[in-house]
Amino acid sequence: MPLHSEFDSISSLRNALRDRKISALEIAQSALEAAQGRSDLNAFLHIEPELTLAQARRADEALARNEAAPLAGIPIAHKDVFVTKGWRTTAASKILQNYVSPFDATVVSRLEEAGAVSIGKLNCDEFGMGSGNENSAFGPVRNPWHADVVPGGSSGGSAAAVAAGLVMASTGTDTGGSVRQPAALCGVSGIKPTYGTVSRFGIVAYGSSLDQAGPLARHARDLVELLDVISGFDPQDSTSLMMCDEAENEPGRIRLDFDAAVQRQEVVAGRPLEGLRIGVPREYFNEGLDNQIAQAIEEALKVFESLGAKRVDVSLPRTRLSIPAYYVIAPAEASSNLSRYDAVRYGYRTASYGDLEDMTSRSRAEGFGPEVIRRILVGTYVLCHGYYDAYYLQAQRVRRMVVNDFQQAFSEHCDLIIGPVTPKVGKLIGENRADPTADWLADVYTLGVSLAGLPAMSIPCGFTADQRPLPIGLQLIGNYFQEGQLLAVADRFQQVTDWHQRTPEQR
Ligand code: GLN
Repeated sequence: MPLHSEFDSISSLRNALRDRKISALEIAQSALEAAQGRSDLNAFLHIEPELTLAQARRADEALARNEAAPLAGIPIAHKDVFVTKGWRTTAASKILQNYVSPFDATVVSRLEEAGAVSIGKLNCDEFGMGSGNENSAFGPVRNPWHADVVPGGSSGGSAAAVAAGLVMASTGTDTGGSVRQPAALCGVSGIKPTYGTVSRFGIVAYGSSLDQAGPLARHARDLVELLDVISGFDPQDSTSLMMCDEAENEPGRIRLDFDAAVQRQEVVAGRPLEGLRIGVPREYFNEGLDNQIAQAIEEALKVFESLGAKRVDVSLPRTRLSIPAYYVIAPAEASSNLSRYDAVRYGYRTASYGDLEDMTSRSRAEGFGPEVIRRILVGTYVLCHGYYDAYYLQAQRVRRMVVNDFQQAFSEHCDLIIGPVTPKVGKLIGENRADPTADWLADVYTLGVSLAGLPAMSIPCGFTADQRPLPIGLQLIGNYFQEGQLLAVADRFQQVTDWHQRTPEQR
């Protein structure tokens, strides 16, 4: 196991680095070795030891001068949709198989400035399209808990690398569930922040009104550290949010408010969540939900109640409608975003072609995988003159209704919402090959949050009773900008449970 796996959290590893008990270089070397040793998982797409070791040396120099940034020497890895100078960025697509970006994504440069050491680039579904990480042009990622089971997608490499202990934390993106689903299925924690909180600059675009980056790690507390670094206004992203209402704040920073949220919870000793109203949407608990997941969530709710929280019944009536709405809007945006892959400026180009049009169409037909082509066809169709009003516009209306459902729940009934992340666990790799849209239905619990742009996270809350137990995730959904509260509540849960500390090795 890599050296960092002896440390339980980012802060304990940071202390060891600052006390010179271990160096960033030693950490990086052992993490590289571990990542290369787990090629069976197919979690990493590109490893560039020289780049990693150079980052580690810089971290050691800063540590030696006592000028280390907060994440100096912490081993992380990026989903391969974040562009990186030096490393290839493929979005797990053949069309970008040899692409090297001339610049870094904002998330990448902020983490680098914070001293984090990147071990490599992580496999994912092609352009983020999928929920099982089976749609990568470079083969599926395997779940560290069971090699035949999907790790969840699209940030499957990000979740598998953390679950297997190869890195302390990773970056992912979530367009309709892609941080939360793999976090749930690999038994780690992951957060998708409020839309606009983290810059999309340098993230290979899928659905621009939905895409949002977020970190994955074992503990909610570690997510706080990463989110703190990557969030905040970025003039290079036109939908990046600037908070200017609070004079005392550094302009342009979203205040995570984690510490304040923790302090607010200290009012009644022993019952840190006293008075917190947790909404449980009845539409999330129906026949479609696996019994073992329902039970694990029930047990988790009891833990929250023992900490003082109160459970209230809420309704999100448009839950099911979020599926057709999302699968119109996301492909529509994708069809537009993916039009840039024309084989002229960059990316894969077919070997033989006639005229310019033939070159572009052959290159796209050969370069995109079947799921991406399906999305481009759907997206182009719903944007066509004559179908636009019937599909695209209608989907946007449903999107507004989904927003209103959440706002009604938050304004009238509850402070946060709890529910499942996925309806099932244990899906085998290749199981839905004959019916690709079956996967779309399994996004039912995550899409609404994405359509509404709300923050949500997944934390481990139990295991199946199988001979080879598989992790079960719990979804926490907050109102806009309440990621601090979400993380604080998740942290309280993790102080009294140990689901997040289990590893596939000690199972
Ligand atoms: N499963 C959804 C899709 O395929 C969400 C993926 C994501 O969040 N990137 O579009």
